[in-house]
Amino acid sequence: MSVDLRPWLDAVPATAAEAIAGANHALVACHENPDADTLGAALGVGWIVEHHGGRATLISTDPVPPLYAFIEGMDRFRADPDPAGDYDLLVVCDCGSLERLGAVRERHRDLFERLPRVLVDHHASNTDAGPRDWVDPNAAATCEMVTLLAGRLGVPLDTGNGALAAALMAGIVMDTSTFAHPNSTPRTLAAAAALVAAGAPLSEISRRLYRSKPDAQLRLFGRVLDRLEVADGGRVIHSSLGDADLAATGTSGPHSEGLIDLLAQSETAEVAILFKEAGADSTRVSVRTKPGGVDATVLTGAFGGGGHARAAGATVDAPLPEARRRFLAEAIRLADAVSRPASA
Ligand code: 5GP
Ligand code: MN
Repeated sequence: MSVDLRPWLDAVPATAAEAIAGANHALVACHENPDADTLGAALGVGWIVEHHGGRATLISTDPVPPLYAFIEGMDRFRADPDPAGDYDLLVVCDCGSLERLGAVRERHRDLFERLPRVLVDHHASNTDAGPRDWVDPNAAATCEMVTLLAGRLGVPLDTGNGALAAALMAGIVMDTSTFAHPNSTPRTLAAAAALVAAGAPLSEISRRLYRSKPDAQLRLFGRVLDRLEVADGGRVIHSSLGDADLAATGTSGPHSEGLIDLLAQSETAEVAILFKEAGADSTRVSVRTKPGGVDATVLTGAFGGGGHARAAGATVDAPLPEARRRFLAEAIRLADAVSRPASA
């Protein structure tokens, strides 16, 4: 059984679709600290280019976290393009700004500036979109967009014996928390239905991404949750994760994935924040906010970051205690401005 995506395919701009279908050798890039949405979208674009007779080289400046290794094709990612590569198109997946490409862009600045580019992204805060780029903040995931792109270009979703469908479903599950976030729309569910019909193992992907963890990671979560703090009378909840926590539990940076969503379960907090040590002078910040409340892109935008209204991040160039002090002041200011009807 297949699901008809035709009612949704007009959303795909012809310019982006033609550029991708016509690529001879596409360089397809993810954002730094990659997640299932950027990786799945890049894999999907790779399948689409190859279906149309081109080649695709997939790059991720940071290694693919072990969490995503179960998705077929993750071994295709390499850190750098081939300096002698005959690329004729750059496809940038799930990057709200070109800076999100990370260090690989610095290492190959000429190549990244020279290649014609199509950016496929769903971040409301995107600032770098050019004329051929496709940014759709109504999409729950970049993988939702790539599912429509495949439909528009006549690429069967069961390509690769279900590998294409699984990669795209992983991104949708990741960015919607298995259809639990308010970003899931009828179109998201239609795309997901088409992917399930094409063989994507939805329940298995959801379990692997959200309900299965190494014990060491559960211990890390325990430490960080145990030291959570509240500010502004409970309107702001936050916690911090240092290198010492990783060392004590035998975990690595990507194991913090999911922690912020537990903090965001606070009944009272308008804003949930996780501060993560990133070297001596830098702090990664993850933010989640309640619907109808603080816009997370406004809060993170004050520190050069961005993302979505309910989920965003930033890197603050300061040691963790100082970054926390500055970031909390802004969070409290914005949380104070939220007015809610008194609950019955
Ligand atoms: P997370 O907190 O899960 O790392 O990120 C939440 C969302 O914000 C994701 O959609 C991610 O792409 C976006 N995001 C995270 N960090 C940054 C950042 O430093 N800059 C921008 N523009 N977006 C970010
Ligand atoms: Mn995404």
